[in-house]
Amino acid sequence: MKIDVSKIKPETGAVEHFAFTERFPPLAGEDGPIELKGPVSADGEAYNTGSSIAVRGSAKARVVLSCSRCAKEFEHPVQAALKVEYVPDRPGTGPGEDDEDVERVPYAGDEVDLDDEVRQQLVLALPMKPLCSADCKGLCPTCGKDLNEGPCECGPRVDIRLAGLADFFKRPAANNPDDGGGGNDGPAKKKDLPR
Ligand SMILES: [Zn+2]
Ligand SMILES: [Zn+2]
Repeated sequence: MKIDVSKIKPETGAVEHFAFTERFPPLAGEDGPIELKGPVSADGEAYNTGSSIAVRGSAKARVVLSCSRCAKEFEHPVQAALKVEYVPDRPGTGPGEDDEDVERVPYAGDEVDLDDEVRQQLVLALPMKPLCSADCKGLCPTCGKDLNEGPCECGPRVDIRLAGLADFFKRPAANNPDDGGGGNDGPAKKKDLPR
């Protein structure tokens, strides 16, 4: 997905619209490749800020995910915002002022290549815990049967989503020393962005 910026490069404020539909190889997910169903589409506009080409738009794709409860594969639509700044790759040009929200990518010539940004944003937009459906019943922890297909022979069971709660009530109530509170585990962990 290469945007031709030759027309907007000479003029600050000039805008070029773009729309692509292209096939991509599988995405690099955290736990391995993620298959795409059909082409990826992206559209938006590229804008000459005077010092860079700012791209704003969105990308859409259908991916094949595996359910975190029942392990079944299912198709899932993903949509992601594109927000990236392409800066001329000239020797002696520093990284410039850093806006943490916007990615700055060097480019040369009359084209900016959106592929990396599209791939990266689609991966970031994937659900952390994919579910084939919001009320997926998951697998029986005893016999492994897919409970979406009907009950198994293991007798009354605890709903997998409530299992943690049941454990909580089974715990002895004695271990609650007054530690003066302060149950802060420090700052939230920052998610590492894939490179
Ligand atoms: Zn499921
Ligand atoms: Zn069972």
